[in-house]
Amino acid sequence: MLDQSAYRHCPACEATGSTQVNAYSPDPWSVADCDTCSFVFLRNPPDYEALEEDFAWEKTYLTKQDSSKGSTVFSPLARKVRVRLNMFRDQNRWFVKWFGTGGKVLDIGCGTGDRLAPSLVPYGIELSKALHARADAHMKARGGACVQGAGAETIWDFDPGMFDGIVMFSYLEHEAEVMKVLKGAHRALKDDGGVFIRVPNYSSLNRRVIGPKWCGFRYPDHVNYFTLQSLTNVAARAGFTTQLVNKLTLPVDDNISVLLRKIKT
Ligand SMILES: [Zn+2]
Repeated sequence: MLDQSAYRHCPACEATGSTQVNAYSPDPWSVADCDTCSFVFLRNPPDYEALEEDFAWEKTYLTKQDSSKGSTVFSPLARKVRVRLNMFRDQNRWFVKWFGTGGKVLDIGCGTGDRLAPSLVPYGIELSKALHARADAHMKARGGACVQGAGAETIWDFDPGMFDGIVMFSYLEHEAEVMKVLKGAHRALKDDGGVFIRVPNYSSLNRRVIGPKWCGFRYPDHVNYFTLQSLTNVAARAGFTTQLVNKLTLPVDDNISVLLRKIKT
């Protein structure tokens, strides 16, 4: 266990004081509640270099599948892929509606780079070197490009006001520097652009009932555990309004989906 001085500050409000939630902190990981704003986060995440090579999601996901008793790698994987593809198709309808046909859209944590509909021009940021190579080839063929790096650093390399839309799909729960990436998104977005965010819903009924076995817990990949309220708060601090997309299902939904717009000044 690390000493308190090595712990990460609250990613939402920068306060240093936080209290460990013991039920959700399997050794050596420490998940804590911010004493000031109640944001829930992993206090001792690995650094970017370790994530790049050791904790890339595709490796941890496959390891989990390999080790799960009585299941095969392929059938759950195939089911998961089918579910994800359907999900992307539905969400792409919204992306085209929100960001416009031909819109430049940045997908942060883009994986293999095939999430965005053909009518959008895809750009991406991907930390995993293996996934980045595939995403870049895919996106260049469609007039965009993928940059390899950490989201909170790399987003500052794009021109201000460059994008019609920014997508953070199952990404922000992995990002240690929440405010830095949201402020970077605000800068990189056109004034009438939008940011779509999908993260696990820490307030979900499932988490309350299942507790430590809830699917939203992943150590050490997930470093932030958002509620609609805490997500709205960090978005406001970065200059955004928040519109809830999955309004009807939120209480029983394991994920929160929101659309951010720039606060008009
Ligand atoms: Zn806080």
